[in-house]
Amino acid sequence: MSFYEPAYAGRVDRMKASEIRELLKLLEQPGITSFAGGIPDPKLFPIAETQAAYAEVLGNVTLGSQALQYSVSEGYLPLRQWIVSHMMTRGVPCTVDNIVITSGSQQGLEFLGRLLLSPKDTALVEMPTYLGALQAFSAFEPHYDELRPEGGNHTPEAYAASAAAAGGRVKFAYVVPDFANPTGLTLSRAARENLLTLARELEVPVLEDSAYAALRFEGTPMPSLQSLDIRCMGSIDASRVVYCGTFSKTVTPGLRLGWLCASREIIRRLVLVKQATDLNSPLLNQMVMHRLVEDVYDRQVEKAIAQYRGRRDVMLRALETYMPTGVTWTRPEGGLFIWVTLPDGTDGAALLERAIAEAKVAFVPGAAFFASQRGRNTIRLSFSLPDEEEITTAIQRLSHLLAH
Ligand code: PMP
Repeated sequence: MSFYEPAYAGRVDRMKASEIRELLKLLEQPGITSFAGGIPDPKLFPIAETQAAYAEVLGNVTLGSQALQYSVSEGYLPLRQWIVSHMMTRGVPCTVDNIVITSGSQQGLEFLGRLLLSPKDTALVEMPTYLGALQAFSAFEPHYDELRPEGGNHTPEAYAASAAAAGGRVKFAYVVPDFANPTGLTLSRAARENLLTLARELEVPVLEDSAYAALRFEGTPMPSLQSLDIRCMGSIDASRVVYCGTFSKTVTPGLRLGWLCASREIIRRLVLVKQATDLNSPLLNQMVMHRLVEDVYDRQVEKAIAQYRGRRDVMLRALETYMPTGVTWTRPEGGLFIWVTLPDGTDGAALLERAIAEAKVAFVPGAAFFASQRGRNTIRLSFSLPDEEEITTAIQRLSHLLAH
């Protein structure tokens, strides 16, 4: 035991490197097709435009001096103004005072955990849900209780009683309502309304993680939870929804920029958290992102949708053609993921080891996405990276492994 051990805070117990992340290091081997990372295809990145934007800012002494200086914690005003107009397209009338820029939406999730969770409080999450959100929240030592927005939530009284038994209170409900990570599923209108009603009864905020919302390939766009709540409550300042946005899946994750949009009251608190954490997100990156979104946002989204839709179609077709009976999967209308349920008794983690060694295919075992010990017979496939031909042949190899 090192002398550090007794010095670590209690919360450190909850911060473990997952075995899966270790296993995924094997992906560096040549010849492996990876359906593992939920990362955007770098071929879509607007490299030339990014280069031009940096050159424009740094090529001008006034802009360059501003860009390399400290800045306000709320974020670069013109970028917040762009986000205000973007939020209008999501049915959310707001002002720059309702926005704080974060270093990716991951930082937004961490801030919300920090602001809302005391140890033993309860966070309501879907099971499965986004692993990074669980990692962000878990540092604050919460309990988790299960939301089932489609299948039937518990009653507010039942959630409140479980939270009290765990030694705290329900503090928020977290969902990824559009093309979720990891399932690819989208919440129905009724599920959205039910969730908002539950949150009103419990008097807790709803954290709406919209990471993939812009990437709809087909079907009717769903109103954001925040827009529905504003319709009911009258204004964003009366709304209990905190919208977590990001440029990562549409423009690039490399500049590490996202935002939170919510009532002025909670944004003021979040700005204090931002100040204490890193003072401000790099102004240079914010100035560049502002130029990029003004210039290429719509085009980027269009390109991404066309590319990922094609890959989803090919993956669905390959699954239908090659998977043995007893295996089922979701049919996402957007995003990057398909969620596969294997026959009972098949272990996703054990399958990954064999799949890497024997089929040269990688994915993420589904159990990683549960806050409880479940989901061993599930896996998450991302169709964002390999090209269409590679998707087909890799699904064929994976299916063969499952059939034998
Ligand atoms: N939310 C969800 C659901 C995600 O899948 C991700 C990235 N994988 C994030 C948030 C965080 O993304 P970023 O910090 O790059 O905005």
